[in-house]
Amino acid sequence: QAPVITIDGPSGSGKGTIAKLLAEKLGFALLDSGALYRLTALAAIRAEADLEDEADVARIASGMDIFFDVSGEEVAVTLDEDDVTRAIRMEDVSMAASRVAALPMVRAALLERQRAFRKMPGLVADGRDMGTTVFPDAPVKVFLTASAEERAQRRFNQLQEKGVSVSLRDLLEDIRARDERDTVRSASPLRPAGDAVQLDSTELTISQVLDTVLELVRD
Ligand code: C5P
Repeated sequence: QAPVITIDGPSGSGKGTIAKLLAEKLGFALLDSGALYRLTALAAIRAEADLEDEADVARIASGMDIFFDVSGEEVAVTLDEDDVTRAIRMEDVSMAASRVAALPMVRAALLERQRAFRKMPGLVADGRDMGTTVFPDAPVKVFLTASAEERAQRRFNQLQEKGVSVSLRDLLEDIRARDERDTVRSASPLRPAGDAVQLDSTELTISQVLDTVLELVRD
């Protein structure tokens, strides 16, 4: 079995950035599991499915034709031959993703799709339940957090760079709502695996977090 490094944590903790840099550094494959939930949400919205209809959304999750290109600076995502890299990051899709992610049948439908990313020489997997449910046998598990205020601020800066105007307050509210939904749901709630190393990135730079994780990998 190829080794897996799991990086779990709430939205905006920086796990996506860290996972991508780590995968590049180690020459490992990359799984952005949140993108799978985002793709499911987008596919369901496009199909005009009822997001509460668990069986229907799970069927959509199983049937999606998806492709990830990790060669660029950001992961490019294709759904049914359509470039949806931008579309899956919109706030409405983010909210819908956290709703469909609460459905056990949807999580079950995505389980094997996620495990299929595991290959030699290794995989870096980022999400909420990588260390607890999807890859419980991973040798290195990180749980990355940051304060909600700091995460909202990071998202705000990112959007400003892209010329998108949003209010910091709205972002903070969105983040809190998503944290709440991700944590209280009964299906694979957001929580650190018992053997995960917890890291708070509130006061750390990206390269400090990366160095800390690389030390764990080398140990
Ligand atoms: O990480 P990201 O913000 O892209 O994830 C989008 C949504 O997908 C999250 O709000 C969360 O509800 C869900 N998710 C999940 N399990 C994962 C990854 C993401 O439930 N492993």
